[in-house]
Amino acid sequence: MPVKTFQDLIKEVHEKGICQECGGCTSFCSAAFEKVIGFKKPNSPPEYINKEACLDCGICYILCPQTHILDDDLNKTYQFTDFTSMPYGFAEEIYSCQTTDEEFLKYGTDGGVVNTLLNFLLENKIIDGAIVSKAEGPFSREAMFAETKDDLIKASGTNLNISPHLDEIQRFNTYTQSIPQLNHYKFKKLAIVGTPCQIYTIRCMQNLGVTPSEHVEITFGLFCYHNFLFEKSQIGKFEEEFKIKFEDIIKINIKEDLILKLKDEKEKEKIIHIPFNKLVNYIRPACHSCTDFTNVYSDISFGGLGSPDKFTTVLPRTEKGKQIFNKVLEKNIIKSLKLDESKRRSIKNLIVKFSESKMERKHEFMKNLK
Ligand SMILES: Cc1cc2nc3c(=O)[nH]c(=O)nc-3n(C[C@H](O)[C@H](O)[C@H](O)COP(=O)(O)OP(=O)(O)OC[C@H]3O[C@@H](n4cnc5c(N)ncnc54)[C@H](O)[C@@H]3O)c2cc1C
Ligand code: SF4
Ligand code: SF4
Ligand code: SF4
Repeated sequence: MPVKTFQDLIKEVHEKGICQECGGCTSFCSAAFEKVIGFKKPNSPPEYINKEACLDCGICYILCPQTHILDDDLNKTYQFTDFTSMPYGFAEEIYSCQTTDEEFLKYGTDGGVVNTLLNFLLENKIIDGAIVSKAEGPFSREAMFAETKDDLIKASGTNLNISPHLDEIQRFNTYTQSIPQLNHYKFKKLAIVGTPCQIYTIRCMQNLGVTPSEHVEITFGLFCYHNFLFEKSQIGKFEEEFKIKFEDIIKINIKEDLILKLKDEKEKEKIIHIPFNKLVNYIRPACHSCTDFTNVYSDISFGGLGSPDKFTTVLPRTEKGKQIFNKVLEKNIIKSLKLDESKRRSIKNLIVKFSESKMERKHEFMKNLK
């Protein structure tokens, strides 16, 4: 059988509108000395830059999260069977946690747990850098390297203290294209925080032994039901529909619904919740074709769903993930709520409900594809 290449990704993934724009293919193209493929336009699938230099090796096709070539291998490694029998993946325990660090809590999205763990790893030299993402404006984030606690605070949560740059061509996207940052790495041991599609790509690279994925020491996976993408033309519609101004948004959180913290005319804070079913027109197209809600291949998964305000739901998965998590718990760097059986069950049920709903959404979406 001929090897499938980037040409096949164009046909099977891009043209179907299911490219997640994770950047995996462009970052790990084997033709290292020639830029064969890359992103020419923001928020669009990658394209050929120099097709003649393509080696037809097929690496880009194998590690694309939409081809599912390595699913069986990954499932074995990460003790996951399938989304139907194991909707939120392998996890022996479920926790609801909060940092004990005031700054991480203040600036955190939920319980400030992700940044607290990253800081612990940095301080103990278990990693020497982390790829995270900082807010650039409402619905706009940018990948960055964090090497210190200050860097992590800058990247914390989804606080938006920068005014939006509403130029004519800009589109707003809650998704951060962080994987291509790996190409600029200068670290030996790196942590990566990412959505399920991003962590999947990293795991494929590690499975294939593609450089520099061996430097990824640990992956922290965020729950992700979907991301939002706004054309400039949609911003006015969004503002009108939900009676808010983009410039008043000071914090975004995605949990059971979209949660916006706004400043009002008296400079006071106000919180509004927008249900997901009212936001269908603003969802990134590729997210309709994605099944993984809880990041089943990460070392530890984190989300807001199921936990009270200012707490993070945590699913330690791998041995490495469990060891790190237990250490920070022991040292009281984070604290965990005591969950009785009924509370634990209700968190699980909620996660299962969102996981199943995501699978159902993909099923419906794929039925309508050519
Ligand atoms: C786009 C997106 C969608 C989400 N959807 C859901 C959802 O549907 N349901 C749900 O329960 N939870 C969702 N989450 C997870 C939730 O919002 C929190 O990130 C999670 O609960 C951890 O909170 P925390 O306070 O412990 O993290 P914090 O301590 O605040 O740390 C979060 C860290 O993640 C980094 N980060 C954020 N996004 C990225 C990214 N794309 N790439 C790299 N680094 C990143 C930040 O820079 C920061 O370092 C989503 C998160 C994101 C970013
Ligand atoms: S060289 Fe290999 S990885 Fe790069 S575009 Fe061609 S087939 Fe894909
Ligand atoms: S989903 Fe990622 S790996 Fe697949 S074609 Fe799109 S950018 Fe490339
Ligand atoms: S839903 Fe989340 S994980 Fe899935 S493609 Fe969209 S951003 Fe990636």
